[in-house]
Amino acid sequence: MSCEASDVAAAVRAAADVIERHRVELTDLDRPIGDGDHGENMNRGFTAVLATLDTTVPDTPAGVLKVVATTLISKVGGAAGPLYGTAFLRAATSLGQESRLDSEGLVTVLRAGLEGVVARGKAEVGDATMVDALSPAVEAAEAAKGEGIAAQLAAAADAADEGARSTVPLVARKGRASYLGERSVGHLDPGARSTALLLRAFADAAR
Ligand code: ADP
Ligand code: MG
Ligand code: MG
Repeated sequence: MSCEASDVAAAVRAAADVIERHRVELTDLDRPIGDGDHGENMNRGFTAVLATLDTTVPDTPAGVLKVVATTLISKVGGAAGPLYGTAFLRAATSLGQESRLDSEGLVTVLRAGLEGVVARGKAEVGDATMVDALSPAVEAAEAAKGEGIAAQLAAAADAADEGARSTVPLVARKGRASYLGERSVGHLDPGARSTALLLRAFADAAR
């Protein structure tokens, strides 16, 4: 199984819907350890992505991912905007002009996205950021490569959920939460949660 630009656009629309539905939750997670805006930031960005996809219809998977990247970079702001923007931009670039995304391509885009976040934010696994969700997700998608895109994304979403939950007992070492030092312990990282939500939306769209 593989997917084309319209399938990728449908997955992005599903992601926008999930972010909208979890806007308050994401902001509530950001309140005690940040500045209480993560849900608003993400929702502003994905609402703008939806509007752009209503008027432009990119004809490659990379084209869709590039629209997401440029829109998030211009609309989300804060830490998450450039981080997610870079992730989607690297993901787009990794695909070139391929008209379809296959199992191998899925691993390539996820890995490129992770590399983008790490290049931009310099966080490692265990720093209590979105990297804690995205990194195990890439490994899970790679491990499930023989099972097809839908199974790979389901495995990636499961791994991201677990990775996000793993941030709770950690001391945050990057972003605003790191200003709290030990007081950041006991909180789920909002960016790790939004990464897990995005991957779950992509997985559900691929079923
Ligand atoms: P801001 O902190 O600027 O208000 P958001 O609240 O939208 O931005 O996003 C916060 C999230 O960004 C954090 O929960 C964390 O997952 C992520 N983040 C912040 N800094 C980094 C970093 N250097 N590397 C990876 N992720 C980061
Ligand atoms: Mg914030
Ligand atoms: Mg902010």
